[in-house]
Amino acid sequence: MRILLHICCAPCSLTVVRTLQDMGHEVTGLYYNPNIHPVGEYLRRRDTLRQFQEQMGIKVLYKDNEYDPQIYFKEIAFREANRCFHCYRIRLERTLFIAKRGRFDAYTTSLLYSKFQKHDVIADLGRDLAGGGQVGFFYHDFREGWKEGIEQSKAMGMYRQDYCGCLYSDFERRKKLLSE
Ligand code: SF4
Repeated sequence: MRILLHICCAPCSLTVVRTLQDMGHEVTGLYYNPNIHPVGEYLRRRDTLRQFQEQMGIKVLYKDNEYDPQIYFKEIAFREANRCFHCYRIRLERTLFIAKRGRFDAYTTSLLYSKFQKHDVIADLGRDLAGGGQVGFFYHDFREGWKEGIEQSKAMGMYRQDYCGCLYSDFERRKKLLSE
């Protein structure tokens, strides 16, 4: 199948890309993440992906002209408690749209690799958005390659961020510093 893979970051996509390729699928990546804050972090994750995409053996579509934090903030405004769901939704909806336009057979996301994400929420959402349409959601539990992916990304010297991406997750990791 031709699969459009939403990529949140390079380290999370390593195992996903290799697993899909081993299954015989043709993978194209899509870097679309308006949730990432600040813009310097967005660029750093993007450039890491650019640096390694050839080694990973994939083409990647970059949607820099669509990087707009307002897209994220508008969607999560007044529903911060459920922000991850909407953050997933924005990115999956866009991926599905582009997959349909590009006549891909299926779409999926590197978010299914991370043990820190709400795996079942992402899987259900991906299937719901796809509905019974022509472009299906490709589900696989990529978390099975979690350890291997970490080791590989470290060995390759990839930049590995220490927060999920949004302002809230950045704040969470720094809270300790503020209370000192
Ligand atoms: S914690 Fe991660 S998934 Fe949740 S809203 Fe922030 S960036 Fe999105």
